[in-house]
Amino acid sequence: MEKEQNREELMGNAWLRMDAEERKRAFVFASGYIDFLNRAKTERETAAFVEQVAREHGFTDIEKCRELKAGDRVFVKQRDKIAALAVIGQCPPEKGFNIIASHVDSPRLDLKPRPLYEKDGMVWLKTHYYGGIKKYQWTAIPLALHGVVVRKDGSKLLVRLGEEEREPVFTITDLLPHLAREQMDKKMSEAVTGEGLNILAGSIPEEEGKDPFKKAILNRLKEEYGIEEADFMSAELEAVPAFKAREVGFDRSMIGGYGQDDRVSVYASLMSILEVQEPAHTALCVFADKEEVGSTGNTGLRSAFLENLAAEILFRCGKCDYLSVRRALASSRALSADVNAAVDPNYEQVFEKMNNSFLGNGVVLTKYTGSRGKYEASDANPEFVAWVRNLFDSNGVAWQVGELGKVDEGGGGTVAQYLAHYGMEVLDCGVALLAMHSPFEVSSKADIYQAYKGYKSFLAAQSYEVWY
Ligand code: MN
Ligand code: MN
Repeated sequence: MEKEQNREELMGNAWLRMDAEERKRAFVFASGYIDFLNRAKTERETAAFVEQVAREHGFTDIEKCRELKAGDRVFVKQRDKIAALAVIGQCPPEKGFNIIASHVDSPRLDLKPRPLYEKDGMVWLKTHYYGGIKKYQWTAIPLALHGVVVRKDGSKLLVRLGEEEREPVFTITDLLPHLAREQMDKKMSEAVTGEGLNILAGSIPEEEGKDPFKKAILNRLKEEYGIEEADFMSAELEAVPAFKAREVGFDRSMIGGYGQDDRVSVYASLMSILEVQEPAHTALCVFADKEEVGSTGNTGLRSAFLENLAAEILFRCGKCDYLSVRRALASSRALSADVNAAVDPNYEQVFEKMNNSFLGNGVVLTKYTGSRGKYEASDANPEFVAWVRNLFDSNGVAWQVGELGKVDEGGGGTVAQYLAHYGMEVLDCGVALLAMHSPFEVSSKADIYQAYKGYKSFLAAQSYEVWY
């Protein structure tokens, strides 16, 4: 019986479906990915990375292009936080685009507009967490500060402090076990509170005056960075884990690191569009912000970003009317590229193994997301799922199906519904992670490589038969 079960599990394993050459390519791909994770930990750094790589590979700022023709490569970046790359296709735009949408933001701790205070001889920074975190995971680890401070005169200070060995880090203290009797009896969701996530930031006082500890830090900030206390009010500073992404396991088959939701999809789709040459349909990769808080705001996918971008592209292809834009979007095909939860044997009780995804079994196709009876789901049409299945099989992509955990155990959503809004076909497709949303998420190198292969075949897909 056990042997039978083993065989079943092995059947889906992506490593066994990869020959020595492909395994080697997967490892090389993974090392580029690790570098990227270490370079781009925030939405701004990710958008900047996307822009730099795009420029290096012959993509031009769309603002600089008056006309577009088949084969042209353009990029857009707005507000430094949302970006997109397009390779113009040979078909008329009304035949739709092949779109892959991922997100550049990850759960983290944002500094409040008035963060600084002193207490008991130490200086602290107040935070407001961003996205779904388990608060206890953010205590007693080294934190780095990333982001931007905008002074009243409009000048900007880019912050990235705590990543280099010579730089200081920050941390949120946790209570020693000796005094944690009461805390340990609390529910995990209450043992560390949102207002308790205060970051330790200094401890040498000025010799005199009011708030001497805080004053000393403010003086230092003024001297070293030219910023004042009020400048925190016009800043976006994010505390993220200060440690680096690493290979995991004796066989180095996995990658552990912060922000793989959803930078694994960002990297895999970015690498795939770089290789697209003269596609039939316009290939479009969108890198959106604010997914972790509901895709809101002018850099999230609930904004008109995609619609405006489609209009800008069509305008430059000589079709600037409303109807053509609507038709192009409605007839598009999209992969909502986001991560899924891999079955974790340490927490078996929340998984349904017939329908959940496994680490190392290839890229995951998720027909629907949502929770409490598919609420808020974008449920992909079976005709489109069949088309993607066929596409992946014909391109040798190792893939699996995966729904997020057991029914009624929880759930979640992605940007799929905001794409589906336009009428286009959308399917969730991404990599399965262990410890998702934690400071150290774990992925499989095999899955990442299969995601890249899958995305590449999707962007380059030659024709789309409507299977209705
Ligand atoms: Mn995500
Ligand atoms: Mn997420």
